Amino acid sequence: MTELTCIVCPLGCRIRVERYANGLKITGNECPRGLAYAREEMTAPKRTLTAVVKVAGRKSMLPVKTKAAIPKAKIWPAMQEIKAITVLPPVSVGQVIKENLAETGVPLVATGTVSGDD
Ligand code: SF4
Repeated sequence: MTELTCIVCPLGCRIRVERYANGLKITGNECPRGLAYAREEMTAPKRTLTAVVKVAGRKSMLPVKTKAAIPKAKIWPAMQEIKAITVLPPVSVGQVIKENLAETGVPLVATGTVSGDD
């Protein structure tokens, strides 16, 4: 049996998952969203990745995140790609910093701004 804490809402239900030959038995979720979360977590877990990238000519870094959750297995290659990125000012919130991050089909976007002034 696997125990999960649902992270879909602040209630944080404790969900129990038992594996059987014909599928999963999921209990403890208070709503269908928790059921979907547990099923995905056990079969194809995903996470939204947050990080920072370098800004050319600046000491400060630009906060970024994936626009949607990406497979957990892609987190490491995604971080390697992010480490190699240096953006040029100006940058606005929501601007795509890199398309198709780590071949996930998900873009990396800015969650902060960088002015064009120095
Ligand atoms: S199972 Fe439903 S109610 Fe419970 S934490 Fe998840 S989303 Fe919230």
